[in-house]
Amino acid sequence: MTPRAKVARVTPSSHRLNRFTESVIREQTRLARVHNAVNLAQGFPDFPCPPELKELSQRAIADDHNQYSITWGTPGLRAAIASKAKAYNGIVANPDTDITVTCGSTEAMICAFLGLVDAGKEVILFQPFYENYQPDSYLSGAKPVHVTMRPDVKTGEWVFDERELAKAFGPKTAAVIITSPHNPTGKVFTREELALIAKHCQKWGALVFADEIYEHILYDGAKHVSHGSVAGLEDRTVTINSASKTYGVTGWRVGWAIAPAPLTASLRKVHDFLTVCAATPLQTAVEGALALPKSYYAGMAKEYRARRDFLMKGLKGAGFMPFKPRGAYYIMADASAHLVKRGAGPQDDVALARRLVEEIGVAVVPGSSFYKPGKDGRSDLLRFCFCKKDETLKAAVERLGRL
Ligand code: PLP
Repeated sequence: MTPRAKVARVTPSSHRLNRFTESVIREQTRLARVHNAVNLAQGFPDFPCPPELKELSQRAIADDHNQYSITWGTPGLRAAIASKAKAYNGIVANPDTDITVTCGSTEAMICAFLGLVDAGKEVILFQPFYENYQPDSYLSGAKPVHVTMRPDVKTGEWVFDERELAKAFGPKTAAVIITSPHNPTGKVFTREELALIAKHCQKWGALVFADEIYEHILYDGAKHVSHGSVAGLEDRTVTINSASKTYGVTGWRVGWAIAPAPLTASLRKVHDFLTVCAATPLQTAVEGALALPKSYYAGMAKEYRARRDFLMKGLKGAGFMPFKPRGAYYIMADASAHLVKRGAGPQDDVALARRLVEEIGVAVVPGSSFYKPGKDGRSDLLRFCFCKKDETLKAAVERLGRL
């Protein structure tokens, strides 16, 4: 018998992973499946994507766009992104040097972090924040610094304090992340707010990573202002976008980053080795989707507005206090009425979300997952997603009525 070789102990994870858990949103989706619950947790439509996109993608495969594309994206898609950026965003981008096609905006964001933020630097996040940015910060070795938005007592609009913003910036600030329209609050940043952020970015030499993936989902006359079109931000903004939300194809994983050539060169280096390229036939299909007429975007926003209004009413009827979103497709709602201080019953958002999915049959996201733990965090909010069929929303409202 040969003596047993001495086996070195395996380290099950790198130290980079110690600071965050798996996605709460995606966990809620798994729980929804287990409990056969209506899923208002994760932001993906449960209705079919536009028929034009199905046709475009099928044709792209039939036409043999099936091999690796140029790493930065097919020339056709990059040209289409450049013309759309000029027409809709007021951003002039050279498709050869300023645009990178990625696997969703998720990849574009981590490429920006890894390519442009040094370990030990700081990144400013407005909280509540879309949950990916916190792990993105830790994976790149950066420290997230938070600026808290709060609902205005009179208007219900989510606003930030200018002094708190000024205090967040400093010599270590590498970048500020702005999401507009915002997930989870539905806030649409105004040109004035962006101009204020621009002033601080110029003073401290900071970049902006602008997540604009809900740019076409706007309500009540809200206007989308692209950060890269704001004076003082043109040469320091990475504009991140994707086909996921605009065309209802979250599974296609086609996104992009637009940035001045020197910034693009850095994030392209990361993208090259991270994923090589996004799926080629789907890039070709998205090129076609970008040519859809204006009526497509207006129709989509109108349908989402009807869904928003339906869910707002349903949530109020079920005892929540929803904050009306101006864009994107989520509603943050104050759930205090369903929380108990002591005794039997849910005492915080996490317990309430668990009760909702297990007993009531509706999966939602606890608001605390959009905050860093601590004094500015909140544990009395829930996020409800409304990019769902009318019957899904009706079923959810009916079930919530049993609370
Ligand atoms: N950014 C925000 C603000 C989101 O809400 C989401 C998805 O919900 C994403 C990025 C992910 O987008 P993609 O599918 O393009 O990776």
